[in-house]
Order: sequence, then C-alpha cells, then structure tokens
Amino acid sequence: CGIIGYVGDQSALDVALGGLRRLEYRGYDSSGVAVVGAGALRTVRRAGKLANLEKLLSEGPERDPMPGTTGMGHTRWATHGGPTDQNAHPHTDCTGAIAVIHNGIIENFAALRAELEGIGHELTSETDTEVVAHLLEVELGNAAAAQAGAVPEDVAPGGPAASGAAGVPVAQHPLTAALRRVCRRLEGAFTLVVLHRDFPEVVLGARRNSPLVVGIGQGETFLASDVSAFIAHTREAMEIGQDQIVEARRDGVTVTDFAGEIVEGRRYHVDWDA
Ligand code: GLU
Repeated sequence: CGIIGYVGDQSALDVALGGLRRLEYRGYDSSGVAVVGAGALRTVRRAGKLANLEKLLSEGPERDPMPGTTGMGHTRWATHGGPTDQNAHPHTDCTGAIAVIHNGIIENFAALRAELEGIGHELTSETDTEVVAHLLEVELGNAAAAQAGAVPEDVAPGGPAASGAAGVPVAQHPLTAALRRVCRRLEGAFTLVVLHRDFPEVVLGARRNSPLVVGIGQGETFLASDVSAFIAHTREAMEIGQDQIVEARRDGVTVTDFAGEIVEGRRYHVDWDA
C-alpha cells in the first residue's frame, strides 16, 4: 500500500518510519522495515498499526538498534494472505540476504511459487510478494554461476558502454540485472523496492501498473509510492515510467526499461505543501 526506500547518510530506520507515518492516511493493516548496515540485513514487521511496529522496535526483542543508512519501509493492505505478522512485508529469500516490499498484485504468483518449491525453496508466507525475493535469489545465483563462462545477458559485447545515453544498453549492478530478469516474468501490478545485504550502496525500485517516484536529495535518494513520503527531505522528484527499473545510489539514479535500455526520467519540483 505505502512504500519508502532510502540510501544516503541518515539513519534509514528513521527515514523509513517518518515516511510511513506520512503514508498512513492511505490505510493499511500491517507494516515493516528493513535496513542494510554493518554487513547485515535486518527486517522487522508487524500486523496492525504502525505504533505496533514502533513498539516492537523500541521495547520488544527487536529493540537492538538497526544501524545503517540504506533501508525501506512498507505499509500493507493485504490482498493475498491475511493481515498477519508472517504475511507483513518485507519478505526475504532463503538466505536472508534479499528483502522485498511490494504494492499491487502479482497475478501469476501461484505458478512461480510452484516452480520455486519444485527446486527446493521454502516459502513462509501466503503472499503473492514472497516469490519475488526467491526469484531474485535464483537469478543472482545463476548470474554468479555464469560469470566465469558466458557474457551476462545485460552486458553489451565488448564491455560496458561508457556513457548513459538514452537507448544504449549498459552494464549494470548485478542486483539490477537480476531484478530486470525477474520483472520480465511477473504479471499484474507492482511497485517493488529491493535491498541486498551485500550491496548497501543501492536500493532498487521497479514498477508496472502501480506508482513509483524518486526523491533526489543532496547525497541521498528516496524511492516512494507517493511524494508525501519524502517531501520533508527533498522536493526534487523524478517520475518513473511504466515497466522501468530505478537503481538508486546516494549520488543519483540510473533508470532503465525492462529490456535494459537507459531511459531519462522526467524531473520536476514538488511545489505544493504536503
Ligand atoms: N499483494 C501484496 C500482499 O498482499 C501487497 C499488498 C499491498 O499493496 O499492500 O501482501
């Protein structure tokens, strides 16, 4: 329902919780956060109001600080699986290295889930979302295995393109390449935000039939379902088009389509009061 992603210098947990508070008006039944830092990916999620999550973070067994300046937050409006702790986002893969939050509905999730279970993946929620974390795990594994031999699909022959001119395929972050391959397999509506334990320098977003907007700050970048999530930090925004992926770093973004071609996001200034 509501999404905020962050990479920068601030506490990602504080930015995520602040963003979720600004998105509360949309309505939700559960919430959760994930932070990458100090070589770990930590997720905390809870059914019910944001106050339940905040209580867990401040008093519960999860009260250990979540250090890190890369992270994300989600408020869920359940479509597949009831509003339980287990179904709350973020969802992770088998290794616990990848975390995914999602707005929308992945219509072909049952077939994807059956395929994943067929190759030994254990899924622990009833959501349509969880398949994305596991598909990313598979794609990253395949890419790593292929590295010694074949040229990865997303790298142009002769090496990476030197510039990011529109229409030019470029070599990209392995997580971005994996997300692109996963998105091509998904049907339905999604805004996805993805984190990886080993890649604290990036937070990724992808969208189809569901909104995703970027906030461009000074040395920090935000991804959100709605500008109100980051307007307290920056008013410089960028629209992400249909079937596009944004690789956000603290110093900027690279936007590509699902075929891997660079596209120019439309930048604008948010001049209304949120
Ligand atoms: N379909 C997903 C779920 O049920 C996401 C729902 C949402 O947009 O919040 O968990």
